[in-house]
Amino acid sequence: MTLNRRTFLKGSGTAMALGTLPITAPSAQADTLAIEPPPRESLASARSELKPSWEVIIIGSGYGGSIMAARLAEHFDLAVLERGREWHPGEFPDTFGGVLGELKGSHHPLGLYDYIPGADVDVLVGSGLGGTSLINANVLIDPETDYFSGSDWPESIRQDHQDGILDNYRRQVLSVFHPEAIHDSKGLLKTRHLDSSSDRLHQQGSPVTSTRLNLAVNIEAFDNEPNDHGVVQRTCSLCGDCVTGCNVGAKSTLDTNYLPIAKHKGARIFTQTQVDTVEKRADGRYQLAGRFLNSDGSFQTFALTARHVILAAGSLGSTGLLLRSRLQTGLSIPALLGECFSGNADILSANYNQQIKTNVLGFGNHPPLAEDYRVGPTITAAARYHPASSAEFLIEDAAIPRALVDASRYAAALDAPQLSIPKIRRILRDLAGTSTQGAANHSMVYLGMGKDQSIGRIELDASGNPKVVWPDAKNDPGVNTVRQAMQEHTATFDGSHIQNPRSQWFGGNNLITVHPLGGCKIGTDSQNGVVNHKGQIFDPASSGVHAGLYVCDGAILPGAVGVNPMLTISILAERIADHFIRDNIQNNIQGNA
Ligand SMILES: Cc1cc2nc3c(=O)[nH]c(=O)nc-3n(C[C@H](O)[C@H](O)[C@H](O)COP(=O)(O)OP(=O)(O)OC[C@H]3O[C@@H](n4cnc5c(N)ncnc54)[C@H](O)[C@@H]3O)c2cc1C
Ligand code: SF4
Repeated sequence: MTLNRRTFLKGSGTAMALGTLPITAPSAQADTLAIEPPPRESLASARSELKPSWEVIIIGSGYGGSIMAARLAEHFDLAVLERGREWHPGEFPDTFGGVLGELKGSHHPLGLYDYIPGADVDVLVGSGLGGTSLINANVLIDPETDYFSGSDWPESIRQDHQDGILDNYRRQVLSVFHPEAIHDSKGLLKTRHLDSSSDRLHQQGSPVTSTRLNLAVNIEAFDNEPNDHGVVQRTCSLCGDCVTGCNVGAKSTLDTNYLPIAKHKGARIFTQTQVDTVEKRADGRYQLAGRFLNSDGSFQTFALTARHVILAAGSLGSTGLLLRSRLQTGLSIPALLGECFSGNADILSANYNQQIKTNVLGFGNHPPLAEDYRVGPTITAAARYHPASSAEFLIEDAAIPRALVDASRYAAALDAPQLSIPKIRRILRDLAGTSTQGAANHSMVYLGMGKDQSIGRIELDASGNPKVVWPDAKNDPGVNTVRQAMQEHTATFDGSHIQNPRSQWFGGNNLITVHPLGGCKIGTDSQNGVVNHKGQIFDPASSGVHAGLYVCDGAILPGAVGVNPMLTISILAERIADHFIRDNIQNNIQGNA
């Protein structure tokens, strides 16, 4: 069974059938905002400023695209084309109906949440200025120390790792995001809970240690004042809504750092501007065909040219663009295009209705559910496993954003077998309305990830949109390892294990990944890769590369990272930008537009 908007609504209807699931804001939570969102200047330029020809066009404004734009803007005449719209704090949906209304699809191409159902693996990414940073959990974590030494990486990257050059790029990234970790003094219950299950398992001999994570969140650094990039940020209210979008203005999304840098250095940023195909012309320039997505649902087509095109539309976005371009314009691309997809062994689970309170119910930019009630950012800590016999993997704490609190309460209550009187009491409290004493607030939500086999494939569906095909992904050994460790965490307390809410509540056996990776794998030639170490796309017809055509985003990773990938993607993007500038300034392309 595949999940589409209809089955999603049907699944939600299970709870609605009870006749009580509110699809607007929970009544006990006032609709007034607790914190005035900070003022934000628009970063996007008017459509009239979009010239027909550019030196550099970047497609997409996630980590790859924003970093390239920030580094290249001062040297080149550059445009960023982003299909989604610009979002500011205070505009993100925080009700169930609001989130459903922002699901992206043919009915609503400007939707923020791009949920892409597949036969085996569903993918969730963001669509808007700042890419998936708008709806992610902000964790900045290094991959395993020997990650970049693996045989999957070209020699030049392995060498850069050994020589400490990658570490310089890493420092550059961290200095822009200004990460902070949650201090124990904040007293977050879900963080302590993860510590506690990890400690118990460690004592039983499990190779696990609990660690605090660095987050791209303004926890304390800027108190309602401009950050290093001139964007006013509020301090984090610990509301737990990071993954539906921060309405407080504390999250360090790309529109608070790399994109303002790009704009100040001269980049032009165009939103609601989707690219459909890239064609290589005889004169060596690239022609882009696309459409302006209007707010009323209509669109107009456009065509542009550029000497350099950087695809940064994300793993599915960039791969889909190249698959369509190969099909429709005959662009010559290596056969490996679409292969080696990884979901980073992502798996979601919950330990439902245990004795200990967890404070996982998000309250968004509204008054908290009770005095001294704090959730924290969506993710704050990780149970980090270093098994001797297999690759590292992680289990992180998670929170339920305000919009999904009621849906989760009802859906979980219907599913989990409950025997004891205290458990039944907690469920009844949940069914009765907003309460921090209910079963949902005595539950842990876990996001696990690790190394899967990275053998999925991205294909185009009948409408020309990318989707993942990966028969039996759910039984991938890496996923099974993470799943088993999650069950062990649940078993250290007395809750019920809800494994993969996607299948439990909506049917099917699909995994959901929020970390889609690969499709345009990095390699050394067109036999074993789609791009080289500089992000240049191989041209199998010439045995060289397509001069001026690049991919720079999660699509180029050769497989699973095993940890949250945005720092890894960002390090590679800083490296690609550096090489791009060195190669093209030396070649003095600047008069060629
Ligand atoms: C709920 C959630 C939580 C997450 N939490 C974390 C975390 O805590 N830490 C972490 O490291 N990672 C996290 N991630 C993953 C992380 O955000 C992604 O790995 C990262 O954003 C990928 O960066 P990217 O540059 O490859 O693509 P994206 O950030 O996805 O950006 C791609 C951009 O391209 C645009 N685009 C696509 N197609 C087109 C087109 N045809 N024309 C124009 N524009 C286009 C998209 O709208 C988007 O803006 C999370 C993801 C989700 C969904
Ligand atoms: S916890 Fe709330 S305030 Fe803090 S970053 Fe996340 S959404 Fe923003």
